[in-house]
Amino acid sequence: MRKPIIIGNWKMNKTAEQATLLVADLLSELQIVKSVDCVVCPPFTALMVVSQMVNNTGIGVGAQDMYWENAGAFTGEVAPQMIKEFCQYVILGHSERRTLLGETDDMVNRKVKAAIANSLIPIVCVGEKAEENESGLTEKVVERQIKKNLEGVTKDKLDSIIIAYEPVWAIGTGRAATKDDAQRVIGSIIRKLLISIYGDESAQRVRILYGGSVNGQNAAEYFCMADIDGALVGGASLKAPDFISIVRAAIK
Ligand code: PEP
Repeated sequence: MRKPIIIGNWKMNKTAEQATLLVADLLSELQIVKSVDCVVCPPFTALMVVSQMVNNTGIGVGAQDMYWENAGAFTGEVAPQMIKEFCQYVILGHSERRTLLGETDDMVNRKVKAAIANSLIPIVCVGEKAEENESGLTEKVVERQIKKNLEGVTKDKLDSIIIAYEPVWAIGTGRAATKDDAQRVIGSIIRKLLISIYGDESAQRVRILYGGSVNGQNAAEYFCMADIDGALVGGASLKAPDFISIVRAAIK
């Protein structure tokens, strides 16, 4: 019912020139894949060249962040209408932005609403820190993030949102969550909460991804779980064979 989607978050890696090499390696394998949506999220500086390369291939492009205003005196920020020239998606609320750059739930919420207003698909990242996980606070933290980040998002717009559950302790550590733990949070906490807010029909249409040390070896385990609709991939999206093997694992 929900089409799987694999999203590569390149983070602060790849110059525009390096990006062209990676996309060239991905193209031949990924443009023939029709049953899985594939998206790459390069840094801002490579968005233009990557979007030109993937034009008409079915591969999507996303930015890794954006500001919520469309223009003005916001030095260093990038507006929704600027990324919209090159992207269909935008990652919002990634834990690195929350923890290293002080991004709050309120800021994420403004960005989510601005993305939707500009017809961009927000990939909203939520997830608990290690100490919150150890203290049994996962449910409380994830519920708070979802409620605050989606505040003001109406039922008719829910379809245009993707959620990524990314436990902070699993990102870039090689310590991936087990498939059962990921399914428990995604199915019994996140989807259940969406059902309670938006109703079953709308909530069942939302794609919810797992992210955190996903690689070619462990990816298939997650994609067998009932509520996991794909992956947000960091490190393993930087090498074409690794990313391609994750996409292949999502082909049913
Ligand atoms: C991420 O940064 O979103 C991520 C999941 O990273 P990694 O796959 O490297 O853990």
